[in-house]
Amino acid sequence: MSSVSISENLKRLGITSENHGTSTGRDFFSSGEKIESYSPVDGKLIGSVNASDHQDYEKVLAKAQEAYIEFRQIPAPKRGDMVRQFGNKLRAYKDDLGKLVSYEMGKSLQEGLGEVQEMIDICDFAVGLSRQLHGYTMHSERPGHRMYEQYHPLGIVGVISAFNFPVAVWSWNAALAWICGNVVIWKPSEKTPLCAIACQNIFNEVAKENNLPEGISNLLIADHEIGDRLVKDKKVALVSFTGSTRVGRIVGKNVAERFGKSILELGGNNAIIITENADLNMSIIGAVFGAVGTAGQRCTSTRRLIIHESVYDEVKNRLVKAYGQLKIGNPLNETNHVGPLIDQSAVKQYQDSIEKCKSEGGKFVVEGGVLEGNDYKSSCYVKPCIAEVENSYAIVQHETFAPILYLIKYKTLDEAIAIQNDVPQGLSSAIMTQNLREAELFLSYGGSDCGIANVNIGTSGAEIGGAFGGEKETGGGRESGSDVWKYYMRRQTNTINYTTSLPLAQGIKFDL
Ligand code: NAD
Repeated sequence: MSSVSISENLKRLGITSENHGTSTGRDFFSSGEKIESYSPVDGKLIGSVNASDHQDYEKVLAKAQEAYIEFRQIPAPKRGDMVRQFGNKLRAYKDDLGKLVSYEMGKSLQEGLGEVQEMIDICDFAVGLSRQLHGYTMHSERPGHRMYEQYHPLGIVGVISAFNFPVAVWSWNAALAWICGNVVIWKPSEKTPLCAIACQNIFNEVAKENNLPEGISNLLIADHEIGDRLVKDKKVALVSFTGSTRVGRIVGKNVAERFGKSILELGGNNAIIITENADLNMSIIGAVFGAVGTAGQRCTSTRRLIIHESVYDEVKNRLVKAYGQLKIGNPLNETNHVGPLIDQSAVKQYQDSIEKCKSEGGKFVVEGGVLEGNDYKSSCYVKPCIAEVENSYAIVQHETFAPILYLIKYKTLDEAIAIQNDVPQGLSSAIMTQNLREAELFLSYGGSDCGIANVNIGTSGAEIGGAFGGEKETGGGRESGSDVWKYYMRRQTNTINYTTSLPLAQGIKFDL
């Protein structure tokens, strides 16, 4: 990809070489320190951003509070119409934004475009939901009384997101938050600031065209200090945090401390069980894509393969062969399978994990390594690798955000399920089998303990229509489809007495 072609995409998205990182829905401003965004694809500077500081934070919060009072009065289907228009804008900007995602984050162009498609899909989903924010009605135990429950907006929703899904995660949250009547303050990863500015620019077009108040969609580009302030701010009713378990632990505590609500979407350590009854062609495709797609930087990336002893050698040999055919290089070139890691600190973590694995006894059947040369100028390209390990190794229990795949052998399905569950994380899991009993056991209460459990599909990725999230150290939150919208509203139970007396519940008498 030439630098000329990306500069045209950037121009159409309103990105220049110097940008401001704060917006409340009209213009951009900010007075904080400069953040520079370098592409992991070729190491070039894409642009810089003046970050948001504490003064900017205060302005954003004040605008968001004001906007909420107005926005909550707009009927939900009309808020849905705003989201519909935003989805249409995303359709128009899909190529530009998809390319920027790929260039700034380093995922393949197809995955960059796929991320924007997820944004469009969640907008469509939210538009439909905007007419379906239903509560139950129930029968009162008292005569002449009616009971029902309704859902009200929460207020300000803070979204803190990770670098690996620089646009989709925000939209999963924002589209639902908006139709529910909330306003959103987004603190994206400081590693992908330009993707966030592009998204806000696109929203700002909708806001201007509809003469919407400022403060419905707000952006704060800054490091963890402003993120921490958002998390501790009592005026932020819900904090939806996507990121590492290490940071999520701090965020979760800080939000709970002030009795705020949180959605925590943290690290995964996802496994595929390949049974003796698996279709091995499907298993190999699912495992390789899950392990090397996005260079192993998906929360749902496949990290462990738990393989039945009878097919272990065959699976291992086929994986080694498949890894030998992988093309590593510029992710905007569609013939490449694996792009770069996000930055050099991620490369260092990958190298350290390989060393730790070896020191614990791991045997590499495909060796790792950092690639050098003209095609790898950013120094962020690494070789996907495979090691034979024990599940109990400390490094196997830990999520390394890189393409390292661990192989573990098992004898019985009960043992395989126990291994699959025996990690601190609980995000995504899968079984490859053509045997109904095996599949049903895996999906039962005695099976996978993860938020996502698949049969004959790998661990990587998910459709927006389902609730997305995981258990244990993955944080317990759910985002996106199903009835997740309820997280973005407060539930109120209402009882109405339409008689001329006041009977008390449980037959209690209180005569005056
Ligand atoms: P990270 O935890 O380093 O950063 C995430 C965000 O938190 C960034 O915006 C960062 O600025 C902010 N932050 C850092 N310290 C903070 C603090 N003290 N208070 C408030 N905000 C703070 O994560 P990352 O490296 O960007 O992303 C990779 C991680 O995200 C992986 O662990 C991955 O599994 C996880 N992830 C999870 C999901 C999911 O849905 N479960 C999805 C994507 C990524």
